[in-house]
Amino acid sequence: MIDWKLTSQFPSDYPITQSLNYPIRARVTALFALFIVAWLWLDARAQTNAPIVSGAHRFEKVAEGIYYATASGTMTVGANSPIILTDTEAMVIDSEITPAAARALIADLKAVTDKPIRYVVDSHYHYDHAFGNQVFGPEVQVIGHENTRKRLLGNTMEQYTYLSSIEPVPARVEALRKRIADEKDPQQKALLERQVTNSLAYLEQVKEIKVTPPGVTLDRKMTLFRGGREIQILYFGRGHTDTDVVVYLPKERIVCTGDLMESVVSYMGDSFPEDWIATLDRLKALDFDTVMPGHGVVFHGKGKIEAFQKYLRDVITQTAALRKQGLSAEQAAQKIDVTAYREELPSIRGVGIDAAAVRRIYQLADHPE
Ligand SMILES: [Zn+2]
Repeated sequence: MIDWKLTSQFPSDYPITQSLNYPIRARVTALFALFIVAWLWLDARAQTNAPIVSGAHRFEKVAEGIYYATASGTMTVGANSPIILTDTEAMVIDSEITPAAARALIADLKAVTDKPIRYVVDSHYHYDHAFGNQVFGPEVQVIGHENTRKRLLGNTMEQYTYLSSIEPVPARVEALRKRIADEKDPQQKALLERQVTNSLAYLEQVKEIKVTPPGVTLDRKMTLFRGGREIQILYFGRGHTDTDVVVYLPKERIVCTGDLMESVVSYMGDSFPEDWIATLDRLKALDFDTVMPGHGVVFHGKGKIEAFQKYLRDVITQTAALRKQGLSAEQAAQKIDVTAYREELPSIRGVGIDAAAVRRIYQLADHPE
């Protein structure tokens, strides 16, 4: 009965609704179309969120107010520097390889923000991350692990890791010049010429380095609550060095890992490989999705970290076996095969690893630290 009444009402209502609804429908359709266009436009903008190239740097937007600074190719800058903006100021992670690179970073950053840099975090003590510290004035707090301070007060400029960035340069320039002479492709030639220019300029730029330690140190954890952001600086133990801190944004689920975790194979010359694996377990226990590493590219998830842990385990095992056979570190380095990890760690090109990694494992076996 009720059903019939309802259905019977429809025919009489229909023309009225139709005539009344027509302009509304058109308006709804137009609004919907507008919404789709706006959405497509925003999406296209997000897709083509092209990095901003400014001077010696390229700034990739990772999240709102968070950028990843990498080299644009006009200068040797060393590490990649994550940039975190708050409402009123900027934090830079790693001051890069030379005072000149740090000055360029300060100038280039103006293309992204006019907020002043108030904090610099040294992810660790290595030259390519911390030798720009000296250019920051008293208005900037340079923060690092207490071991970073200790190491930077020591003789880092006389150690292999830094010297290995200087000593091979003349031979490399020589080799580049030979390639330039033979190169037919003008684009390739220009690229090689720029490498020569950058390398020679680097040898000049290092002359003004005055190694400057962080003025604020931490042991395990420091948290900054600045302009709407919570920024945690965390030390999880020895790994790439005994100075590695990560900068963690819990709300944004972003972590800046320095060289503790890169998107490529990390240098092992000052590392503690056994500890490193356990330290990465503690890193993985954080809740994050985005990793901004000290070298390579921004990546997501924890799969790459697991792969690198397996890589470290494998390097340790293969090194121990070759050492037992009486091979020198250099001989062992040529034989170590980590090509199985090529997919996750694309800097692996073939059999063999950096001899500095094997020398370090030999050294720790003879003189545990
Ligand atoms: Zn490093």
